[in-house]
Amino acid sequence: MRADRVLPEDIFACRRCGDCCRGYGGTYLTEADMAAISSYVGVDRAVFKGRYCVMSGGRPVIRQAENGYCVFWDGGLCAIHPVKPRMCRQWPFLESVLVDVSNWKAMASCCPGMRTDLPDEIILAGVRAYLERTAA
Ligand code: SF4
Ligand code: SF4
Repeated sequence: MRADRVLPEDIFACRRCGDCCRGYGGTYLTEADMAAISSYVGVDRAVFKGRYCVMSGGRPVIRQAENGYCVFWDGGLCAIHPVKPRMCRQWPFLESVLVDVSNWKAMASCCPGMRTDLPDEIILAGVRAYLERTAA
């Protein structure tokens, strides 16, 4: 595989296992996320924050249900898939991988869709390709 031809799909394919939607992962919400999701679930911003968020480090994160999953995990799919938070949409193509490529392997320990059998330059190229594609 050549680094100049790597596509995001070459380094990651979601297996829909739901593991990334479980545990206290700290899914931070931007203002745009909150506007989109509160509108999607049909409540105003204040109700949304109270019902679906907790604060962490001064920022709102999505609350966990009692089963340990994100409150929007419906057992097989994200219930807010069309408007899911930026963090969830972008996973695992995070800028932090470009800062330190070892973050990819650390993240892959809880995400079976991430390939760990490829050289670092291929991983970096795949992450860059995703970020370039979504910046357009
Ligand atoms: S942990 Fe990875 S493979 Fe599993 S649902 Fe999340 S993104 Fe997909
Ligand atoms: S918002 Fe959706 S994709 Fe994100 S953690 Fe919750 S269930 Fe998973």
